Amino acid sequence: MGIAFLNGNFLPIEQAKISPLDRGFLFGDGIYEVVPSYQGKMVGFKPHMERMKHGLSAIGIPLDWPQQQWSDLCHRLIEENGSGNLGLYLHISRGAYPSRSHRFPREINPTVFAYTFEIGSPPVADKSQVKTYSVSTARDMRWDRRHIKSTALLGNVLHHQQGVEQGNEETLLYNADNELTEASSCNVFVVKNGTLLTPALDHQKLPGVTRYMLLDILRKEGSIPIQERTITMDEVAGADEIWITSSSKEIVPVTEVDGVPVGNGQVGDIWLAAQSLYSANKFNY
Ligand code: PLP
Repeated sequence: MGIAFLNGNFLPIEQAKISPLDRGFLFGDGIYEVVPSYQGKMVGFKPHMERMKHGLSAIGIPLDWPQQQWSDLCHRLIEENGSGNLGLYLHISRGAYPSRSHRFPREINPTVFAYTFEIGSPPVADKSQVKTYSVSTARDMRWDRRHIKSTALLGNVLHHQQGVEQGNEETLLYNADNELTEASSCNVFVVKNGTLLTPALDHQKLPGVTRYMLLDILRKEGSIPIQERTITMDEVAGADEIWITSSSKEIVPVTEVDGVPVGNGQVGDIWLAAQSLYSANKFNY
C-alpha cells in the first residue's frame, strides 16, 4: 500500500480518512489533476499546475499554494512510493462542513488529497507495440462547463461505460450540431490528407495537457500542418487516422469507430511521427 497526502500529513493510504460531510463526496465539489511520472521525472508538471490554478479559481476554492509547494508534495510522494512509473493524483475539494447546503459555506478549509498509482512504461513510437483502441460514438450529454477538470465525473463515467458495454475502450462524443467534442477521458485528433485536425478549445472540452504539449511540439518541429477548428462527425467517419490523447495514455491510435475501420484500419505514419516527437520532447514541460 502506498503513502498518500491528506491535509498536511503523509500517511499510509489505508489510514487516510475523509469526512462523509466533505463536499467533494456529497456534491463532487472539487477539482483534480493526474500528472504522470516516469522514474522520478514528471511530464507536464507546469501546465498541470496552471490548469489546476484556473480550475480552483473557476469554482471559487480559495487555495493559493505556490507551485513550489505542489512540486515539493509531488517529489515527496514519488520518493515515498518508489519512483517507478507513477500517476500522481492531486485532488482539492471545497472541504467538509457540518450542514449540507448548496451555497458555499463561509468558513471552510479545502481538503487536499494526493496519492500515487502505478502506470505502465512510457508508450513507445513503434507500430508493432502500440496498443490500439476501438471506440463507440455517442451524443455528449455532460454539463456545459467541461473545460473545468471537475471531480464530478458521472457524465464521463457513464459515457465511458457506454463504450465498454459495446466492447470498445472509449467513446467519442459529439454535440447537438454533430460536432466532435472529445472522448470520455481523452482529447481527440483526426488526420485527413496529411493535415492534423483537432477541435478548437471552448467550454465543451477539457484543455488537455497532452493536447497542449503535442500541438506545441509539432508546431515547433513544423512538418505536420495543423488546424484547430470545428470537426464534424462526417469528417470523423472519413478520417485517415484518429488518435486520442491523455496524460497517462499519451497518443493512442484509434483503428475502429463503431465497428468500422479508420482509414485502412492500420496504425498510421503521422501517428508514428507524432509519438516519436512527443516521446523525445515530453520532459521539457
Ligand atoms: N478530456 C477529458 C474529459 C479527460 O478526462 C482528460 C484526462 O483525464 C483529457 C481530456 C486529457 O487531458 P490530459 O491530457 O490533461 O490528461
